[in-house]
Parts: sequence; C-alpha cells; structure tokens
Amino acid sequence: MKSITSKEVTIEWIPDKNNKEPLYKQIVRFISTKIASGDWVIGSKLPSQRKLAEIFGVNRSTIMMAMEELSSYGILEGNAGKGTRVASNTWSLLMSAAPPDWGSYLTSGSFKANVPTIQIINKLEFEENFIRLGTGELAPELFPKEMMREIFMRLPERIPSLNYLGSLGLLELREILSERLKKQGIQASPSSILITSGSLQALQLISVCMLPSGSTVYTEAPSYLKSLQVFQSAGMKLKGLPMDSEGLCHWHMAAQSHHASNSKGLTKEKNSLLYTIPTFHNPTGAVMSTQRRKELFRFCNNQRLPIIEDNAYGELWFEEEPPKPLKTMDENGMILYLGTVSKTIAPGLRIGWLVGPESVVERLGDVKMQMDYGASSVSQWALYELFSTENYDIYLQQLRKKLKMRRDHALHALDLYFKDIATWNVPKGSFYIWLKLHRNISTDDLFYAARKEKLLLNPGSVYDFEKNHALRLSYAYAKEEEIEYGLKKLSNIIRSNSFINASHSRPNGSK
Ligand code: PMP
Repeated sequence: MKSITSKEVTIEWIPDKNNKEPLYKQIVRFISTKIASGDWVIGSKLPSQRKLAEIFGVNRSTIMMAMEELSSYGILEGNAGKGTRVASNTWSLLMSAAPPDWGSYLTSGSFKANVPTIQIINKLEFEENFIRLGTGELAPELFPKEMMREIFMRLPERIPSLNYLGSLGLLELREILSERLKKQGIQASPSSILITSGSLQALQLISVCMLPSGSTVYTEAPSYLKSLQVFQSAGMKLKGLPMDSEGLCHWHMAAQSHHASNSKGLTKEKNSLLYTIPTFHNPTGAVMSTQRRKELFRFCNNQRLPIIEDNAYGELWFEEEPPKPLKTMDENGMILYLGTVSKTIAPGLRIGWLVGPESVVERLGDVKMQMDYGASSVSQWALYELFSTENYDIYLQQLRKKLKMRRDHALHALDLYFKDIATWNVPKGSFYIWLKLHRNISTDDLFYAARKEKLLLNPGSVYDFEKNHALRLSYAYAKEEEIEYGLKKLSNIIRSNSFINASHSRPNGSK
C-alpha cells in the first residue's frame, strides 16, 4: 500500500507506572490504538528505541519487548538503517472494527495540495506576533466597522427569509451590480451575472465545467493563478507569458503553442484560454496600457481565444482611474469577467460575481447549485443594502486615500533600507509592491530565515513559473510601523553574511 508520509510521529503519552498492566503491554496497546485509529498512517516513522525509552520513561528492554510484539503482529517493521515504521494495520483489521487506511485515501483525490510554502503561510497568518509583509487582505483597522454595523442592523427588517436563493444568486443584488457595471462601461443584464462564493469559486467552476483535461490556460508570468492549484487539479497546463511595461506580451502565445500556427502565424490551439489580471496585477501591481488592452483583445478575438478577466483590484486606484476593463470592448461574449468584494471590503463575506454569456452563466449556476446551493444569502443581502446607498462609494474614496498613504510609507521604508539591494515598482493602486532583490538570493531561503525572526513573507516563486529573486510586499495589511520595522529587519537579514553564505552554498533545488 502507498504511504503518504515518512514523518516521525509525535507522542504525548506516557505509560502509567501505578497500573497493574505491565509497562510493555501498555505501550503495545497505545501504539496499536494509534495505528488502528488511523492517527499514524502506514509508512509513519517511529522515534528510535533510545528516544522512545526517553519519551515513555522506561528501560530500553521494555521498548524492545513492545517492539518485538508489535513486529510479530506485522504492524511494525524495523530496519537497522531506516528505523521502525508502521507497516500495516491488518492486525487491527482482523482484531476489531476496520478503520480505513486514510493514507491511501489522502493521496487519491484529484485536487492537488497547496505548495508547502503556501501551506506554511496559511498557518503562520494565524500565529501571534508575526509581521505579515505580504498578506493580500485589508488590515483589520481598515475594515469599515461603522458602515457594516449600520447595514447589519438594518438586515433583519429587510431580509424576507434566509432560504436558498435562485441558481444565479439574489436578483436584487444582480440588478444593482448590473447598474454599477454599466457605469464602468460593461453591459451586463442581471441574467448574465452569476453570484459566486468569492471569485475563486468562479475559477473553480470554470475549471470543472468548461475545459477538458489537457487544456492550456495562459496567464501572466508571474501570476496569482500560479499560487493556486485550481486549473492544474483539473488536469490543465498553466503557461506563463512574459510581461513588459505595457502588460502581458500576448504574442508569446504563438511561440509557446505546440499546435500548428494559422496563416497569420498566430496560435491556433484548441481548448485553451487566457486568464489575465490587467488592472493592478497580483503580484506585480502592473496596469496594462489602453493600447495593449486593444491589441490583446484583437488578438484573442482573431484567435477565438476566450478570456477570463479578473478585476479584483480595479476599484482601488490612487490618483487616476485605470484604463477601462477589457470587458468593455467585448461585443460577442468572449470574456468572462470576475469581480469580488474581497479586496475592497472583506474576503470573509465570500461574495464575487462572474459576468458572461447567459448560456455560460446558466451552466455554471447549475453546477454551483450542486456544489453549495448558493453563496451566503446573508452576505448577498448585506451587499445589496450596501450598494443601494452611496455609502460604498464614499467609503471607497476614503479607502483609496488610506491605502495611498500606506503605499507612500512603504516606499519610504524601501528607500531607507533597500535602495542598494533591490528595485521595485511604484504601484498606482491596490496592495502590492513587487520587490526584486539585486543579490542573487533565493527568496525561498529568505522566507525561512525571515520566519525565524517572526516576519512572514510571500516569496515571488509561489507566483512564478521559474525561480526568481522577488517578494510580493503588501502595504494593505501590516501597520505602518510594523512595515518600517519589518523591512529594516529584512534588510539586515539579507545583508547578514551568514545568510548570504548559507544561501549561496546550497545547491539549486535542494529544498
Ligand atoms: N483574484 C485575484 C487576482 C486575487 O488576488 C484574489 C485574492 N487573493 C482572488 C481572485 C480571490 O478572491 P476571492 O476572495 O474573491 O475568492
């Protein structure tokens, strides 16, 4: 049988010396229960006999007796060089109720695990005393408490019931979104809008409903999309396209395609699509120029290449409005447009929307009903209330000012501590600064070094298709003084000889 881990088990139990049952028997019982219950999966490694004797507070001979008995049942196997491992739980299957071998189940599902760095980030974000220098969320102090309090106070009177909603989501919310989108130049009737549980769910729905396994999804390199496993888990290839100062270099699609080119020398690849974040790109903060938007749209139109346009950050501009979304050019339903309130208000509301042809929206809505019966009705009613007044737009104006002040502060700290070791962009909106380190330092190594100092980083490699020396900094989450302190500390870590030597002496790919 397959094993999922060779990690050493942790033991927080000791035998009871006052118990009449011999110590070695107690140990046999403890270990067999751990294995029978599935806590220790097949392949798990046990500590050495010396260490076990220490942990249990018993003699080595007691451990040897217990191990012999467990080995005779066939549930442990020992190897002089490799230590003792859980070999099977067939003994427990024969003896009593049969627990499943979770190890083999856990490796069988189709959804891929997060990359380890992201798993660590997801855990450390909830540990105290860490300064989060890359978090893509608004700081708690930016949460519009008053505005939300007022809305939630009104809700009980406004909500007729909290029953399931129709498959596309709350009609009133879709109507009001339709009006808001119109102001941006996007024509979208309420029946062409699907409310989703965050825009991440829209991506999930597209990946399971619309693309066969083996399809290609093109995107900017680096991209937020690369930090997820949504498309890859559905068997799709993600291909990164370079960016220049105007945005995504679409002409590289032709070069990357394995399929025959058409007469114009452009890509003609079946079942592929483009995912792009043209406005305040995550992680680089870049904004695609108006000219490039036109060229890109023309290119995709010619190629009949559908586009997913992710506009999670478009409303968060500082001085001037960014160019209009690609969707404003779309007359024949080539673009699936994604919006969300996660970056402007709160990701915990779990509300996003997808705008597309009615046929697509209907199909995705049908599958969404099978997945979760709809996004939270409370959140949908709350957003309907919010968008019904001018409060949201007033709030947005204030939020832009606050974010801009945070940006300026972060840029100042970078000037103080990073001028000679990195380059960076000056974002015109949203949360992120893409910090490229001069020195040939692996930001993956830096991630671990910073972690020891209680600094949580988002290394650029989790977003990229190749190794890079960049970090995604966010000025939206940490407090100004934390950013200043954190960047100073980070700069010291980078300059410390031990770190530089350590990261240089480690061969590539050793981690
Ligand atoms: N798209 C982009 C570009 C994002 O940055 C994020 C959040 N990091 C999402 C989508 C997912 O947001 P949501 O909370 O709406 O699922």
